[in-house]
Amino acid sequence: MLRITEIFRSIQGESTHAGRPCTFVRLTGCPMRCTWCDSEYTFTGGDHFTIDAIMQKVRDFGCPLVEVTGGEPLAQREALDLIKRLCDKDYEVLIETGGYVSTKDVDARAKIILDVKCPASGEAERNHWPNLTRLRRDKDEVKFVVASREDWEFAMKIIAEYDLQRRAKAILISPAWGLIDLQELAKWIVESGLNVRMQLQLHKYIWGPDVHGV
Ligand code: SF4
Repeated sequence: MLRITEIFRSIQGESTHAGRPCTFVRLTGCPMRCTWCDSEYTFTGGDHFTIDAIMQKVRDFGCPLVEVTGGEPLAQREALDLIKRLCDKDYEVLIETGGYVSTKDVDARAKIILDVKCPASGEAERNHWPNLTRLRRDKDEVKFVVASREDWEFAMKIIAEYDLQRRAKAILISPAWGLIDLQELAKWIVESGLNVRMQLQLHKYIWGPDVHGV
C-alpha cells in the first residue's frame, strides 16, 4: 500500500517536459522541511491505495506521461514497485525527488528530476550527493531552486564540482516563488555563460500559486 495525497491529470509545469499533458501521482510525506516548500499539504493525511488501484486511475486518465512526485516519493519504499509497474506498461515515467533519498534502486527506465537543495532551503546539509553521480545524460535532469544570490553561487559551485553540464540532460534553475527578482536571476544566468535552463513553474502562472490538483 502507498499513501497518496492526490492523483490527477494536468499540464506538466516544470522541467524540459513543461507544457505536456501529464498524470501526477503525488505521494504523501516528506522527511525534509524546505523553508519555501509549496507542498506542505502533502506532509500529513493522504489515503492508502494499492498499486493496482493507482494503476487503474492512471489508466483511466489515459496520459502516456506520468510523474511520480510528493512530498518525497522515494521515502515510501513501495514507490519503487509502482515505478516499475508504470515502466512495464510503457508509460514515460518522471520521478520528481527532493534529493535526500537515494535514487540507486529506481527502475532504470524512469527519468529522474533531482533537486539539489540550496542554502536558503535550510536543507542543503541533507543532499544525498551520490545521487548526482548517478545522473544519466540521455534522460535525467537536475534542479536548483534559487532564492538568493548565495543560492545561485552555491548552484554554480555544485554544477562545476560535479560536472553537471556534461552529466545531466538539463540543469534547471527555478526561482523560489516570490523570493527572488526574475530579471536579476536571468541576468546572473546569462552572465555565467553556463548551459542551464531558467524555468518558471508554468502551473502557478496558469492556476495561481496556491492551487493544487488541477
Ligand atoms: S523536499 Fe519538496 S516536498 Fe519536501 S519539504 Fe522540500 S520542497 Fe517540500
